[in-house]
Amino acid sequence: MATVMTAYRFALDPAPAQERMLRSHAGAARFAWNWGLARCKERYAAERKWYSAAELHKLWNAAKKADPDLAWWAENSKCAYQEAFRNLDRALRDFVKSKKGLRKGRRLGFPRRKKKGKARDSFRLTGTIRCAGTAVTLPRLGTVKTHEPAGKLAAKLEDGSARVLSATVSRTAQRWFVSFTVGEERDAPERHARTGSAIGVDLGVKTLLAGVDDQGSLVTVHGPKPLRAAMRRLRRASRARSRRQPGSGRRRRAAARLGRLHARVASVRADALHKATARLAARYETVVMEDLNVTGMTANRKLARAVSDQGFGTARRMLAYKTARNGGTLLVADRWYPSSKTCSDCGSVKAKLTLKDRIFACDYCGHTEDRDVNAARNLLSLAASGAERLNARRAAVRPGPAGHAALKREPGTAHAGRTGTAAPQGTAAA
Ligand SMILES: [Zn+2]
Repeated sequence: MATVMTAYRFALDPAPAQERMLRSHAGAARFAWNWGLARCKERYAAERKWYSAAELHKLWNAAKKADPDLAWWAENSKCAYQEAFRNLDRALRDFVKSKKGLRKGRRLGFPRRKKKGKARDSFRLTGTIRCAGTAVTLPRLGTVKTHEPAGKLAAKLEDGSARVLSATVSRTAQRWFVSFTVGEERDAPERHARTGSAIGVDLGVKTLLAGVDDQGSLVTVHGPKPLRAAMRRLRRASRARSRRQPGSGRRRRAAARLGRLHARVASVRADALHKATARLAARYETVVMEDLNVTGMTANRKLARAVSDQGFGTARRMLAYKTARNGGTLLVADRWYPSSKTCSDCGSVKAKLTLKDRIFACDYCGHTEDRDVNAARNLLSLAASGAERLNARRAAVRPGPAGHAALKREPGTAHAGRTGTAAPQGTAAA
């Protein structure tokens, strides 16, 4: 048995009074964040250190009783404040880590004040959380209708195979969502049903993903039709908005429409990725993908949309927990491994390959192949060299010549309790 963290996300259909409470809670969380940030800045000026979440909570409890202007606090669950302090605490620690270079990804700035209307409306609740049929019951907010049935999760909570750890409520465009972080007990098989099977996948710019498996078969998954259609509408809406006068009512309406379309694209994409990654994890014991420097690439604006559209980070998280669930492994190739630039036939590395070059053509042996497929082939050969060592050590491996093509096990693919690595904190809807 392994404990796997999964996220379940539901759209909410709150009654008008409940919607007011949701807004109020989001406001409370924003207030607490700003209040805590101000206290931290004061302390930093005097003592060169900040408050922890627990200290902020204590200060807040004293302040809310002493200051009559804060009497409204009682209208919202105390969790909203407490969890906002936790978020702030984490943001401050992440900032320090990022500054010291101990944190992967984009450089993080110092946490900023959250402005109403600018910052995303969001708050987190802990405590007794239930769900049944088409409704969820949250502390303080009571029973709120969900847009789609919550029965699958309800059944797992009922039989004790899952436990809700927290619920995050947020608003995207005009729609409220609740996302549950759930710890699930699952029977993860010791070995995959298809022992020895492997696939190298490349998350494409054009295709959702392209892969080559150990039998030499090509596996290509295109973005689904609804996604392409939604993308077209999105582009149109984006142009429409930029034609409107800034500050005008029409501009505001166009922006709202754009927001709704963005939300639609994200959900269609997540759905497509869920299906594709579930199939991969069920079919292949070892899945190899690239550790694409997503933040580095998104800095390039032209590519930004294409990359984020394909949901690279999402796909990777999904593959991490889905392979683990099937007794398989996700291997991540070092981000400097030139999978796209290497010829899968003779191994020579091209000096330059731009993103516009959709076809890989080797300058030495003349091998010509679709760019993504060529990359997937290279990743697969990494799997072949990495798999043996992986089985011997069940840990990080550095296969390949001179070890420059380092592979690592994705953190989170380890079964909880077996190696002590935490299960992935899934952010994907299930
Ligand atoms: Zn070649």
